[in-house]
Amino acid sequence: EALLKVEHLRKVYESSTGNVEAIGDISFEMDAGELVCIVGPSGCGKTTLLKCIAGLLKPTDGLVELDGKRVTAPPPNMALVFQEYGRSLYPWLTVRGNVELPLKHKKLSRTERDRLIDDALTAVGLEHAARSYPWQLSGGMQQRVAIARAVAYQPEVLIMDEPFAAVDAQTRADLEDLVRTLHRERGMSILFVTHDIDESVYLGQRVVVLSKSPTWVQEDLAIDLAPE
Ligand code: ADP
Ligand code: ADP
Repeated sequence: EALLKVEHLRKVYESSTGNVEAIGDISFEMDAGELVCIVGPSGCGKTTLLKCIAGLLKPTDGLVELDGKRVTAPPPNMALVFQEYGRSLYPWLTVRGNVELPLKHKKLSRTERDRLIDDALTAVGLEHAARSYPWQLSGGMQQRVAIARAVAYQPEVLIMDEPFAAVDAQTRADLEDLVRTLHRERGMSILFVTHDIDESVYLGQRVVVLSKSPTWVQEDLAIDLAPE
């Protein structure tokens, strides 16, 4: 049984100036422990797809299932990391406070919570910045905080929407390697969305390619990762 199942998903935005078919007919599955990339040019419907998967938007047709359950509202066992890292962090909370926030919704002992936070900060290389505030950090480090928050939360699936589009090339390469490490060493299930073909092929075990012209196309690539 797949962890995530997207079946014949279609979304039409209706407006007074006309309807826009943002996604036509997308189907794919993702197993637990997989790193799947969705790639396609700007405007091909990536954000719309993610919003449907995250339960933030109701599809016009088709369905999304997580763990065999139909997604109709934001599932609690999902974590999201967006491109706009700055906006997803609270400036009045320290790095540690930001990572801790979603854990408050889980019933955890103080000790267990601290252990998860320490572990996540170490995983992203920010153990020394725990008491800093996000605005004191570079963009790349802020994105590490957002990733640490997702790691500590231990979601069944981590969704990343163009997470590194706003950072410089070297930082981006470092962060891509961090994502690979989280997947390989921690077995995290990651759905990674990007407009960058190179990035998708570098990261993904499988790549779902979306494009829209002249007609709606979905193509799946299977990538054999060479053994390390
Ligand atoms: P991507 O993330 O790949 O850039 P989007 O999902 O943002 O693609 O957009 C897909 C298409 O849907 C685009 O043509 C966009 O203009 C349109 N679109 C996105 N959001 C809305 C909306 N709220 N209302 C109307 N059209 C929209
Ligand atoms: P390895 O997997 O053995 O570390 P790779 O050949 O996969 O080596 O990558 C070497 C370096 O090049 C990595 O540190 C990575 O940051 C960078 N790199 C390779 N491909 C890409 C890519 N498509 N986008 C960004 N960085 C890349």
